[in-house]
Amino acid sequence: MYKYRQFKDKFVLSIDNHQKIAAAIAEFCKEKKILAGAVYGIGAVNEATLRFLDPATKKYVDKTFAEQMEICNLTGNISEKDGQVYLHLHVTLGRRDYTCIGGHLLEATLNGACELVVETLDGPSLPRYADPETGLNLYDFR
Ligand code: FE
Repeated sequence: MYKYRQFKDKFVLSIDNHQKIAAAIAEFCKEKKILAGAVYGIGAVNEATLRFLDPATKKYVDKTFAEQMEICNLTGNISEKDGQVYLHLHVTLGRRDYTCIGGHLLEATLNGACELVVETLDGPSLPRYADPETGLNLYDFR
């Protein structure tokens, strides 16, 4: 599903071709027991499902794009909710005509390569809780 090399508190993560990127990152964090960290990187995909949260309705709008696109940037954080790895990922995808689309990354299928850095934070976990006011899972620093 992926290969990696460790550099002190960071990992360089190379996801195998045709894998689901979000699932692979989650599996890697589970394997390494990373519940606090950050992830960023680049790559290419041929399908991606993006999510937009409408603050007025608190409803998610998901849309799938099935075409070859560059991952111009994938940035996210790694935290913990209810004892499980919780990923919050955003992505900017470059199309064939050099325009970009972007949003919250739900899932994407790798087609080419996906080269990421996973940084771990010193500490047991970065906890989240479901905030009723925003409808978001916010950091639990209460
Ligand atoms: Fe988000």
